[in-house]
Amino acid sequence: MKARPDYDIILVGGGTAGCVLAARLTQDPDLRVLLLEAGPSTSALPSAVAEPPAWPTLGATPANWGDMTVPQGPDGSPVALPRGRGLGGSSAVNAMVFARGHRTSYDSWADLGAKGWSFDDLLPYFQRSETALGCAPGRGTNGPLTVAPAARPNAVLLACLAAAVQSGHRRAHDISGGLEEGFAPVDLNIVAGRRQSAADAYLLPALDRPGLTVVTDALADRLILKDGRCTGVRYLADGRTHTATATREVVLTAGTIGSAQLLLRSGVGPADELRPADVDVVHDLPGVGRNLHDHPRVNLVHETQVPVPPARNNHGEILGLLRSAPELTGPDLQIIFIDIPVPNPAATVARGFTIGVSPMRPVSRGTLRITSSDPTTPPVLDPGYFTAEEDVRAVLSGIAAAREIARSPALAAWRGAEVSPGPGVVDDDALGDFVRRHRTSYCHPVGTCAMGESETAVVDSELRVRGIDGLRVADASVIPAIPSGNTNATVYAIAERAADLLRR
Ligand SMILES: Cc1cc2nc3c(=O)[nH]c(=O)nc-3n(C[C@H](O)[C@H](O)[C@H](O)COP(=O)(O)OP(=O)(O)OC[C@H]3O[C@@H](n4cnc5c(N)ncnc54)[C@H](O)[C@@H]3O)c2cc1C
Repeated sequence: MKARPDYDIILVGGGTAGCVLAARLTQDPDLRVLLLEAGPSTSALPSAVAEPPAWPTLGATPANWGDMTVPQGPDGSPVALPRGRGLGGSSAVNAMVFARGHRTSYDSWADLGAKGWSFDDLLPYFQRSETALGCAPGRGTNGPLTVAPAARPNAVLLACLAAAVQSGHRRAHDISGGLEEGFAPVDLNIVAGRRQSAADAYLLPALDRPGLTVVTDALADRLILKDGRCTGVRYLADGRTHTATATREVVLTAGTIGSAQLLLRSGVGPADELRPADVDVVHDLPGVGRNLHDHPRVNLVHETQVPVPPARNNHGEILGLLRSAPELTGPDLQIIFIDIPVPNPAATVARGFTIGVSPMRPVSRGTLRITSSDPTTPPVLDPGYFTAEEDVRAVLSGIAAAREIARSPALAAWRGAEVSPGPGVVDDDALGDFVRRHRTSYCHPVGTCAMGESETAVVDSELRVRGIDGLRVADASVIPAIPSGNTNATVYAIAERAADLLRR
């Protein structure tokens, strides 16, 4: 679509948050909204995007930006940190788990100065985003996303669920709602056998609105900042540089990596890091790019005696939320059952399943930096996986729970050997070493434009960039401390709330 020179609001990034905001804001027919997206339109994305079991193949396509972290852990290997590129963003390439974090995991947001963002404050926005077919109390019944557990879960995953209950874990009713602990089938963003991304649910139904302009293959290069105010965006499309002006606001929805990168390239960030990257400092804001964190995951791969039925859904249909220590106020571990042996360079398995274990309230923190003002230069990403000992301790407790589940009678008909880490890796030192060397990303990076009131907060509780007028951030980057759920449902709620804040 052809862009006009000025708009009321410019949204930068057409992922989960950008699609929600574009749709919600243009419900007002008087508002002129521009959505810029660096990647392609939905019709130009790979066809595998729509096929739930094919999502792991998307990492090798242009629908993924292809980021890698700097070397992590004792063996110094980098970790792939995929993120979506194209309308729908990461919601178009993700694993389709749709779950709020446990309600207790949002308490720390207030401790960090984010006022009005408790679980109860977010609840109407969680509900607004969804039509939850499970009909559990507290769930939405009229939102654009249709979510439900897998209609026909894989038999090996059902056996894992039975094994978890046999080993003493609670059978939850609705593990996606944020109120329960224990194990249950989780809600998925799959409708009639196909993925439902943020573009499918929110943006495509709004595309005909006269107030909405969407420009794809448009890479936002720099914010236009003058006298402490953001007045527009410079972007690259069709081999040319364009400028779009916003009379009201620019809202960054480019995700944890993209939003922080754009602020830094525009001279908003820690002055001592910008100068070596050859960027003129416009506003010294020390928190931009700090506080990068993610859920790391450790995979316990099991061989099976019999073939596992082919996957129909997202591979990870059932999960559990549990505590690494009974005295904790809420769950801090997730165990997910996966119907394939997750590839591991140390152990190749023809048929099997995986039990993934993640610390869901990690303490480890890292950084995002830029080395150049060139928008095509990749960022330097260091999520600092397992740099905090607390995270290693938590995951060891999760591995013990996962191994007990794997030994339960309900898995007897399937059980073969644990091939990774393997039965010989048992004491805490050996397991800790395995964890630090063989973690993967759960692909939930957050926190680089954290909301709050401290010196390192980037946005205030209304998502306004501190010290710059006319500029907000509204995506996963504003999450000050990662909640104990896969992050997409929380980003939908943040964007729904941002739409209310912008409409005021
Ligand atoms: C492989 C994978 C699996 C995942 N699995 C799950 C899961 O099962 N469940 C779950 O809850 N979460 C999952 N997540 C995480 C979840 O999808 C994200 O937390 C969420 O989508 C983030 O939304 P966002 O709006 O912040 O960013 P995104 O959805 O990533 O959107 C950012 C958009 O901005 C665009 N952009 C970036 N820079 C620029 C620029 N300079 N100019 C223009 N556009 C730009 C990007 O192309 C992208 O479209 C997964 C993520 C990945 C990558």
